[in-house]
Amino acid sequence: MSSAPKIPTVQLPSGARMPVVGLGTWKSKPGEVKQAVKDAIDVGYRHFDCAFIYQNENEIGEAFAEKFKEGVVKREDLFICSKVWNTFHSKEAVKRGLAETLKSLQLDYLDLYIIHWPMGYLEGGDIVPWDKDGKMQHSDIDYVETWQALEEVQKSGKARDIGVSNFNVEQLKRIQAISSLPIAVNQIEVHVYNQNKELIQYCKQHNITIVGYSPLGSFDRPDDGLTSDYPPPLEDSSVKGIAEKHKKQPGQILLKYLLQQGYVVIPKSVRKERLQANLQLFDFELDAADQQALTQLCKGGHARACTMNQDWNHKHHPFPNQGKIRARGAVIQ
Ligand code: NDP
Repeated sequence: MSSAPKIPTVQLPSGARMPVVGLGTWKSKPGEVKQAVKDAIDVGYRHFDCAFIYQNENEIGEAFAEKFKEGVVKREDLFICSKVWNTFHSKEAVKRGLAETLKSLQLDYLDLYIIHWPMGYLEGGDIVPWDKDGKMQHSDIDYVETWQALEEVQKSGKARDIGVSNFNVEQLKRIQAISSLPIAVNQIEVHVYNQNKELIQYCKQHNITIVGYSPLGSFDRPDDGLTSDYPPPLEDSSVKGIAEKHKKQPGQILLKYLLQQGYVVIPKSVRKERLQANLQLFDFELDAADQQALTQLCKGGHARACTMNQDWNHKHHPFPNQGKIRARGAVIQ
């Protein structure tokens, strides 16, 4: 434990501090995720990114409870985020979804609760409510209502800060126009192939912390994902070259690139050696030439791993260029 690196933090509107590297938990399978979270705590992680839809919050909760019981960490040492799933967008449902998440995680408050996507789905049935023709059943609940429910959650003390995920500038503005509380974070896809400049500039101007998801390119995702135009960034020759220059691993270069731009990153891994490697980011700096080479990998576009293709016809889908979807779902702007 003594060799665990000290992770810098950013301050959120409540005054709480969020470590700039957290552990992603999407796709971390039952049977794997509990050990991964315990290992992560042992190697120094204090920030955990969870979600109702990942369907593994129960095991993550068991890992937290064991580490609290062992006295390795206390609740207040951890920064824990979870997300309102699309089938919980109405005011009443937000409360139910939060209650389920807190019960699974064995917690009485979250550090951060965010709206996972601006699109609402049909409530009260399946959590991924496909109809018999293979179409997603949407609801027309406005994410503004969901946000107002989050304001109540924050006022109740069950979440220290509240925020959003996958919201575009217009959607952020609609919330800001009616909200009495600040949007603490926008969790969005950020990596070398999707640098989101305009959205990020808006968030920076408005003191909304960017949490970058899929920072390594999300190559274990089950569907869509990046196309062959965008091979795994971990295997890109310029990323590898920069890694050799700094005697680091490609993954560390990709994460450091995002950290140096002021974002929080939440790489997912279930392997202890990678958990450790993904924290060893504070003993080197990328120089201007490194950063320029990495910026160029974007090719001026936005290639996304997470497109939510099934929701293109939802009025609140946040991404532009509906219809310009390539094979496996990458969207080129
Ligand atoms: P990442 O970009 O974090 O990539 C994860 C993949 O990289 C896994 O296959 C993992 O394998 C591998 N990996 C991890 N570390 C290394 C390393 N050092 N070297 C080589 N390979 C490595 O993808 P995610 O899509 O999982 O994004 C991270 C997190 O962001 C999610 O887990 C989730 O918490 C959040 N997220 C949020 C979304 C949202 O809509 N708000 C959408 C998508 C993600 P292994 O586990 O075997 O090590």
